[in-house]
Amino acid sequence: MQLALLSRLLSVGRAVLAALRGRLGALCWSLAPLSLSLSLPGWRDSAPQPQREQEWDDAAPTPTSVNYHFTRRCNYKCGFCFHTAKTSFVLPLEEAKRGLAMLKEGGMEKINFSGGEPFLHDRGEFVGKLVQFCKQDLELPSVSIVSNGSLIRKQWFQKYGEYLDILAISCDSFDEDVNVLIGRHQGKKNHVENLHKLRQWCREYAVAFKINSVINRFNVEEDMNEQIKALNPVRWKVFQCLLIEGENSGEDALREAEKFVISDEDFDRFLDRHKDVSCLVPESNQKMRDSYLILDEYMRFLNCRNGRKEPSKSILDVGVEAAIKFSGFDEKMFLKRGGKYVWSKADMKLDW
Ligand code: SF4
Repeated sequence: MQLALLSRLLSVGRAVLAALRGRLGALCWSLAPLSLSLSLPGWRDSAPQPQREQEWDDAAPTPTSVNYHFTRRCNYKCGFCFHTAKTSFVLPLEEAKRGLAMLKEGGMEKINFSGGEPFLHDRGEFVGKLVQFCKQDLELPSVSIVSNGSLIRKQWFQKYGEYLDILAISCDSFDEDVNVLIGRHQGKKNHVENLHKLRQWCREYAVAFKINSVINRFNVEEDMNEQIKALNPVRWKVFQCLLIEGENSGEDALREAEKFVISDEDFDRFLDRHKDVSCLVPESNQKMRDSYLILDEYMRFLNCRNGRKEPSKSILDVGVEAAIKFSGFDEKMFLKRGGKYVWSKADMKLDW
């Protein structure tokens, strides 16, 4: 009697195991095409796959304003740089255009090209062609570039200036010695003199001129009122130096920015000293972390919410809507920080 019961139990156990094996087999087959699609030959082979993904919200935000960091390479060596040369990869031009068209389809109104240094790749021709494509073919209301300005030539303005709404130049100090200390220089080029030259070309070629400054330990006591008023930018973005793990802080980082960091109180003192500059737009660390939509060189959204840049899958592989859910983008914070402003030069009523 006991033997019969034992044999019945064994046969039930065998049946359960067989059923489980069947299910696992089916699951492996359903995953197979996915893993095959991730190992296509060509440039996509070099795109590292994301380590960890976390979906923040069911509803995908609209990519109204996108920052495309298409290259990580730069000719400067700023000590606090938070988008460092971890790869030298740049998408082929036609793939970049395909991604930009997808973003337009998804609701993009403004594109900003950034780096690294955008004018380094193909001597500025790559970014020029993308600027022209976005304005002429995609008819985007706003096309802008953030650059350190050191590699821009007058011929570039002659060829592409009409398609560019805003050129933002990074400048953290009007004292050249401080720029050298920060690492914002190359060879004998004078960063401040170059800034004035670019201001003039922007006037000549009707491109709105903007200045970005990172406030850090070396410039926090500086008074920039006179110089900024003289340059008269449409916007002066003032950022608080930010630590990003894996970029400018931590073991696998290419920079150690800890010595550049300032407190919130120091940052507020700097803002207070410049409160009469009407075009000043302050950006504290908190605002910076989750109110920017950042696309990296593989067209992956970078989620900065956990203090490091965690990539989504590339929009070229999974589409904009699927990728953007992992961007960590806070649409409300974007609007609160004034992310939407008059960003088309046609609407600016500027005295060029
Ligand atoms: S100019 Fe910009 S991209 Fe280049 S090193 Fe400095 S912060 Fe980084």
